[in-house]
Amino acid sequence: MEKKVRVRFAPSPTGGLHLGGVRTALFNYLFAKKHNGTFILRVEDTDQTRFVEGAEEYIVSCLAWCGIQADESPQVGGEYAPYRQSERKSTYKQYAEQLINDGFAYYAFDTPEELDVKRKEIPNFLYGQTSRMGMRNSLTLSSEEVDALLKNNTPHVVRIKMPENEHVSFVDMIRGLVSFDTNLVDDKVLLKADGMPTYHLAVVADDRAMKISHIFRGEEWLPSAPVHILLWKYLGWEDEMPNWAHLPLILKPDGNGKLSKRDGDRLGFPVYAQNWTDPKTGDMTKGFRELGFMPEAFVNLLAMLGWNDGTDQELFSMAELIDKFSVERISKAGAKFDFEKAKWYNHEWIKHTDAADLLDIVKQEFSAKGIDLTDDNFALKVIGLIKDRCNLLTDFVAQSEYFFKAPVEYDLPAVKSKWTAEKADFFNAYLPAIEDGFTTLELEEKFKSLATEHNLKPGELMLPFRIMLVGGKFGPGVFDIAVTLGSAETKERILAALAAFA
Ligand code: GLU
Repeated sequence: MEKKVRVRFAPSPTGGLHLGGVRTALFNYLFAKKHNGTFILRVEDTDQTRFVEGAEEYIVSCLAWCGIQADESPQVGGEYAPYRQSERKSTYKQYAEQLINDGFAYYAFDTPEELDVKRKEIPNFLYGQTSRMGMRNSLTLSSEEVDALLKNNTPHVVRIKMPENEHVSFVDMIRGLVSFDTNLVDDKVLLKADGMPTYHLAVVADDRAMKISHIFRGEEWLPSAPVHILLWKYLGWEDEMPNWAHLPLILKPDGNGKLSKRDGDRLGFPVYAQNWTDPKTGDMTKGFRELGFMPEAFVNLLAMLGWNDGTDQELFSMAELIDKFSVERISKAGAKFDFEKAKWYNHEWIKHTDAADLLDIVKQEFSAKGIDLTDDNFALKVIGLIKDRCNLLTDFVAQSEYFFKAPVEYDLPAVKSKWTAEKADFFNAYLPAIEDGFTTLELEEKFKSLATEHNLKPGELMLPFRIMLVGGKFGPGVFDIAVTLGSAETKERILAALAAFA
């Protein structure tokens, strides 16, 4: 019988959500939706020293912005609740005890100071098979000593006992057969001195409890896979073990190592999905959303970091991604992050989105700058005219503000030196020709024939005309601008500029 697809995104609430994290969530989500499965958000907050206030809400908000809805989560609940590991604390201890009783784990009483001494003594110290017999643990102490230490509540952890000379192998859905030499893996802590499980124990216990069928997670977790696989085995759950898929790393633009938040700061682009303010320092890190990315574009560009559908197609909506997604087409090789390409996706999405669907967000952008767009019809015309020129949603204001506010300053150096009385005469003569109802083409033809009548080249009049209407040397076709502004406004702007140019 086919397993029912149940996948999870299991972030730790430790701060801003890196785009790699969103991509992990996205690939889990696409796989779930493709197979009519369930997508779960599980919050892995067992490391209380790394817990950051507000980080969970922030993650939920980032996912919602991307259109990634969890079927089960701390917020929506579900059959396998609670979905926060800190609220599941009582369930983990029994597994640690079971592992100890079965000889797969042991108590370790080494103090942080003792461990420090060892680390200083032995370069690259690993708490594992070569060192464990020289440490203070239930393998080296007598059972009476261990009992006494436990009775006295001596601080201790529980460690997995990695087997000697074994290979842990599994078939990764992306990488194929992967094999680890157990001699090279340390005895990871499973239960900490505070009674909280570590990630390793909690992740296995919860994946099993929540009947997770497939695990998609970043490649950085690959070295932990042998520990997890052994835990599935040692706890007697091997038959229920999910399928594994370790997603390729997202690399720095030059391909040299994993993309970090610091690379974004250094190179001037965001790495987090949304703005993140560190509650302790108050420092704000900018996110893709606030920089002016459309969620559709963000999702699209993330999907292409390590996946393609086998054709040249690059633009995909969420629905198309769900339809076309296949694990076979996820690459093993790391994907370089290219911010210029990211902006290209956003530009394409803005271009292909109907003006009506951009209206609300453009209005918000303007109102943030203190300008209220009250005439929706007019705003829609403007958006339609300039959206091809915007890479970011935040470009809309700069690219179209002049439609809503007549220029108060002109790029005078661009016109002044070549400005003549003949040119002024031409514009005065052009005024009566500008009537409402004219098409762009009609306005342009009239402009050109009148220029010829005035013995002027239309080419030398276009730039002044643009500067009259826009203030600067940018924007779409100048006759499109005039038609959109309407005759009264166009005439007023010509007259005002004539006075300024004189
Ligand atoms: N809590 C881990 C993280 O922060 C989850 C890793 C996994 O998916 O197993 O990414």
